[in-house]
Amino acid sequence: MSHIVVGGGLAGAECALALARAGLAVTLFEMRPARTTPAHQTDLLAELVCSNSLRSDEPVTAVGLLKEEMAALGSEVMRAARATSVPAGKALAVDRELFAREITRAVSEHPLIHVLRCEIESLDDPALVGAKAVAVCAGPLASDSLAKSLAANIGGEGLYFYDAIAPIVDAASIDMEHAFWGSRWRPEDDDYLNCPLSEEEYKALVAALLAAEKVPCRDFEKAVHFEGCLPVEEMAERGEMTLAFGPLKPVGLVDPRTGKRPFAVVQLRAENRERTAFNLVGFQTKLKYPEQDRVFRLIPALAKAEFLRFGSIHRNTFVDAPRVLTDDLELRARPGTFLAGQITGVEGYLESAACGLWLGMVLAAREAGRTLARPPRETALGALLGHLKSEAKGFQPSNVNFGLMPELSGRVKKKQRKETYAARAREAFVAWLGAR
Ligand code: FAD
Repeated sequence: MSHIVVGGGLAGAECALALARAGLAVTLFEMRPARTTPAHQTDLLAELVCSNSLRSDEPVTAVGLLKEEMAALGSEVMRAARATSVPAGKALAVDRELFAREITRAVSEHPLIHVLRCEIESLDDPALVGAKAVAVCAGPLASDSLAKSLAANIGGEGLYFYDAIAPIVDAASIDMEHAFWGSRWRPEDDDYLNCPLSEEEYKALVAALLAAEKVPCRDFEKAVHFEGCLPVEEMAERGEMTLAFGPLKPVGLVDPRTGKRPFAVVQLRAENRERTAFNLVGFQTKLKYPEQDRVFRLIPALAKAEFLRFGSIHRNTFVDAPRVLTDDLELRARPGTFLAGQITGVEGYLESAACGLWLGMVLAAREAGRTLARPPRETALGALLGHLKSEAKGFQPSNVNFGLMPELSGRVKKKQRKETYAARAREAFVAWLGAR
C-alpha cells in the first residue's frame, strides 16, 4: 500500500517528494501527456504555465519569507528554483524548462516514487482503492471528470470554477484624509471604507481604465464573464456612467467632510477581522499588474496604496476550503482524501508548492503516529494555511501576503512595518521549528 498523489504539478511534486523523504512509498498519477490542460504545453512535472517568476526574493516580503520557510523544510521546488534561476533583479525567476526538468528528474528518479501517466477520472477510481491516503493536487485546471467527482463528494456549492479577484490594499497605506467609514444609508456603520471621487476624478479613472493594457483572454477563460462577474474595465467600456450607476454608485453615502453625496464612491471592504487589508469592491480586473498599480492610484485615497494582491480573473477550480477541509486538508466529506495546491484556495506557484509540501509533511507525521501542529499565523506558511480557515464571507483564493498575518501589536511606523512583520515571522518560525 502506498500513498497516492493525483497530479504532478507544483503541489503534487512537492507532496510526493516530502512523503518519499520520510521513507514512504508514493504512486503519483499525472494525466499529461495523454490528456492535457488548456494551459500546459509539455509533459514535464511542475510546469510553470505562465510567468517564469516565483516573485520577490526580498527577505522583507511575505513571499520572500515563504521561500525561506520552504527551504528550511526541505522544499525541492525551492532547491530546483535556486539551481535553475535566471537574473531577475529582486525576484526569483527560473529557466522554466530547466526547472521543470529538474523537478521531473527528482520525482522520476526517486526510488520510492512511482509515476503513472494516466488520468484519475473520479475519487472512486479503482486505482485509488487501498491507498494509505489520496492527495488530490489536480490544480486550477483539474480534469472535468475529476472536478465533477469532487463536486459530487463535497456538494456542488463547495467547488468553484473561476476566480474573479479584486485587488487588496494594505490598510496602513490608505490615505484616511480621502476616505470615510459608513454603509449605504447607515453612516454609523463601519462596514465599508468609502473613497469618494469628484466628477473629474471619476472621469479620469474611467478614461484610464479604458486606455490601460489588459491581459489577453485565453479561450477557456472567455466563458467566465458570462457568469455575471464583469471586469471593472469591461463595465467601463459599456458607458462613461456605467460604473457610477453600478459598483461606484454614491447612493446613500454622505462624505462627512463636505456633508454632501460624492459624485462616485469606491468602496473598500475588510479582508480580515483585524482590518489590516481591504479589497476594492467590484474591481475584479484583467488589467496588467503594473497598470493596476498605476490606474488604481488615481483614486485619491489610494494614491500611495500598497497593493498586497492585484486583481485577476481566470479559470480556477478551487474548493470552499473553510467549509470542506479540515485543519489537515482532509475532505470532511471523505476521510482519507486530502487536497493540496491551488485547488485548496491558495494562489500562485509558490503557495501551491508550499501547500503540497505541508500536506506531504502532515501525511508523513500521521503515518508515524504523530500530529503536526501548524506553524503559527505570524509565519508565512502559517498565514497561508490560516487563510484556508478564513471566516470571511465568500471564500476567495489568496496568495501569501502580510494581510493574512495577525496585526502588529503597538504602533509601528509605516516604514518599519515590513521589517517588523518579517522579524516577527522569523522568530515565530524558528520557535515552531524548534518545538516540532
Ligand atoms: P498545477 O501546477 O496545475 O498541477 C496540477 C497537475 O494535475 C497538472 O500537471 C495536471 O495535468 C494534473 N491533473 C489534473 N487533473 C488530473 C487528473 N484527473 N488526473 C491526473 N492528473 C491530473 N501562478 C503564478 O504564481 N504565476 C503565474 O504567472 C500564474 N499564471 C497562471 C496562468 C494560468 C492560465 C493558470 C491557470 C494559472 C496560473 N497561475 C500562476 C497559478 C498556477 O497555475 C498555480 O498556482 C500552480 O501551477 C498550481 O499548482 P498546482 O500544483 O496546484 O496545479
